[in-house]
Amino acid sequence: MYYSEDTIVYLDGKWLKATDANFSLYSQSIHYGSGVFEGIRSYEAEGEASIFKAAAHYERLLDSAKKMHIKCNYTVEELTQISYELLERNNLKGAYIRPLIFLGANMSLSPVNEVHLFFCAWKWANYLGDKLSNVLVSSYERPNPKSVPVEAKVTGHYTNSILATTEAKSKGFDEALLLDANGSVAEGSGANFFFERDNVLYTPPLGNILPGITRATTIEIAHDLGYEVIETYFPPQKVKGADGAFFTGTAVEIAGIQSLDGIPFKKPWEQTIGYKIAQEYKKLIRKPSRKLLAKA
Ligand code: PMP
Repeated sequence: MYYSEDTIVYLDGKWLKATDANFSLYSQSIHYGSGVFEGIRSYEAEGEASIFKAAAHYERLLDSAKKMHIKCNYTVEELTQISYELLERNNLKGAYIRPLIFLGANMSLSPVNEVHLFFCAWKWANYLGDKLSNVLVSSYERPNPKSVPVEAKVTGHYTNSILATTEAKSKGFDEALLLDANGSVAEGSGANFFFERDNVLYTPPLGNILPGITRATTIEIAHDLGYEVIETYFPPQKVKGADGAFFTGTAVEIAGIQSLDGIPFKKPWEQTIGYKIAQEYKKLIRKPSRKLLAKA
């Protein structure tokens, strides 16, 4: 699914067959989860690949690396350039791009100077599909921001996401909604969260969540459509039985939610603010990116 015999990946300045790319099993990243990554989508726009919000994703990647004391000498422009070349070499237009910065062999718990950069891409349909999700309030909390930088996209943080998703699925739900250390709603396993009540959108503020790029775009679209978005803390009880709710993220895009802990949201998805935003989002991602505009 992720690669075939023909797939080309980027590793430390070289273009390799995915089947030939490898790394040390003594990597600190694989033993202790200290690596940083991004999840980015390109869309076909006017016949060309267009990477949605490339600069924002690469700024966050470099910021995540900095927060984890991982040295990365690439610039946002270089990372963007590699991404477009990766798509071209693999004949991809609409794709999911996964850059990963990981560390070399080191079994200590000290910073590591050997830093590797890997890029791969594959065709990946909308992560939750077009079906509405039934969501469980997870028994797992998001990591405490006093323990780890939650605003960084660190590989190790995703053990928490895997546990929460596994719990939700094992109980017959599609996805998990995780709380922060104070019992307020934080986010999904790999997506930010919004709910609608009385024509207003609510979403948790930054601090205990990944600062989602889709979240920021959603807030902009909501404002353009004339809706108020309140960034505030709220317990899950405030969400249950509200008018509507949805997840936002690069992989899930804007994904409607049917119920929380078995309690359905009141409005049919097609009548919610989230649905209207999803329609605008679909138009936005299909606009040619800056690179294409510059070429014209
Ligand atoms: N929260 C978490 C935990 C995530 O993994 C993601 C996906 N990167 C998001 C939120 C959404 O972020 P974005 O919109 O930038 O993809």
